[in-house]
Amino acid sequence: MESNKHDIENIPYKEKSFCALPWIHLATHPIGTVTPCCITDMENDMSTAKKDGFNMFLNKDKLEDIANSDLFKDIRKQMMKGEYPAACKTCYFYEKSQVYSKRMESNLKFKEHIDACFSNTLEDGTLKKVDYRYIELRLGTVCNLKCVTCNPFSSNRWNEDVSAFKGTEFEKSYFKCDIRTEWYRDIKFYDELLTKCENLEEVWINGGEPTLIREHGYFLEKLIEANKAKNINLHYSINMTSIPDHFIEIWKKFKHVRLHLSIDDLEERNDYIRYGSKWEIIYNNFKKILQYKDLFRLEVCQTVSLLNVMNIDNFKKFCLDHDVVVAHNYVHHPSFHHISALPSPLKEKLLAEIKYLRPDEKKRLTAELEQTPSVDAFSKFQEFTKLLDIKRNLKIYNYLKEWNNLL
Ligand code: SF4
Repeated sequence: MESNKHDIENIPYKEKSFCALPWIHLATHPIGTVTPCCITDMENDMSTAKKDGFNMFLNKDKLEDIANSDLFKDIRKQMMKGEYPAACKTCYFYEKSQVYSKRMESNLKFKEHIDACFSNTLEDGTLKKVDYRYIELRLGTVCNLKCVTCNPFSSNRWNEDVSAFKGTEFEKSYFKCDIRTEWYRDIKFYDELLTKCENLEEVWINGGEPTLIREHGYFLEKLIEANKAKNINLHYSINMTSIPDHFIEIWKKFKHVRLHLSIDDLEERNDYIRYGSKWEIIYNNFKKILQYKDLFRLEVCQTVSLLNVMNIDNFKKFCLDHDVVVAHNYVHHPSFHHISALPSPLKEKLLAEIKYLRPDEKKRLTAELEQTPSVDAFSKFQEFTKLLDIKRNLKIYNYLKEWNNLL
C-alpha cells in the first residue's frame, strides 16, 4: 500500500513566504528564457528574467546577469521581508487549501542551505555568488509529438497545426514559433553553466524531448569526468517514444536517477492526447524501462486535463498493476483545459467512482475541480477541440468516449 510521504507539519519556513528556489535554482525554458522555477506565474511573461523591460535569453545573456536581474532580486527581497511575490501565487494558493506545494517540497529538500541563502544575499536581493544547487534544463522545443495540451513553444511539431486557429481567438496563443536559438546545443552554454555548478545536487532535464538532444550528454559527461556525478541526482522527463541505450549508460554513473515517464492515458486515448505517439511503442518502451526499476526510480507523470480526467482512476489502476508510482501534473495553461471546467454532473460522477487514488490524491483532484473556471472555459475547450480535430482529421469521441454527446 502506498503512503502519503509528505509531512506538512515539518516544512521549514512553512509559515512564511520564503522559498529556497529563487536563490539556488536555474529554471530554463525551451526558447531560452529563465524564471525562478517552473511553476511561477507565466501570464504575460511576468516571472521571466528581463533587462530594460525585455526578456533575457540564455544564448546571449550571462547566467550571472540573469540570476541578478531586477525581477529575481525583487522576489528575493520580498521573501526576505516575509512578503508574498505575485509570481509565486500558485504555491501560496495550494497551501491555503492545505495542499502540499512545490515551495514546501523545495524548502524541505534544500533545508540545510536556507541560512546560506540569506547570508549570500545583499539587501537589494542581489546574490553575492551564483551557486546553483538545482537546475532544470528544458532543452528546447525539439519534439516528435504534438500533445493536445502542449503548444508550439514547447514542441516544434505543433507548428504544423497552428493554421487550425487562424482568425480565431486562439490565434494569439497558437502561432508559429520561429525562435531558432538553439542554446541547448551550444557547448559554450554548458561550459558557462559548469562554472556555476560547483555544488550541484540535482539536475532536472526535459524538453521538448531530451533524448533527441544529444548535446546535453556533454554536460553530463563533464560532471562524470569531474567526479561530481556520484553526488548528483538526475531527474528526467521523457516522452517514451525512445529510450537510447547510450543515455542509460550515462545515467548509471549518477548518484540517483529519477525518470518521469510522460504518459497521459491508455491505448488509443493516449494516441489522441499525446498525438504522434503510438501506444504499442510507448508500452514497449515502458516495459523496457521497467527492467531498470532497481537502478532508477521510475515515476509515471500524467498531465491531467479535461481530456483525461474522467479516466484518471483507471490510469492509476494501470500504474498500480505495474507497480509504478504516478504523479499528477494538472494543466493550468491553457486555462480551458483545466479540469475545473468539467460540467458539474461529470465532476460528481468522477469523484463518486474513485477507487484507486490515494486520499491525498483525491483531495488534490477535488481542490482542482473546485477552482473557479476561467470565463467560458468549457465552450472554449469545445471550440478548440473542434478546430484541432478538423486539422488533424480526427473526432475526439472516437478516442475519448466520455465526450460522445458533449463535443
Ligand atoms: S514559491 Fe513556489 S512558485 Fe515561487 S519559486 Fe518557490 S516553488 Fe516556485
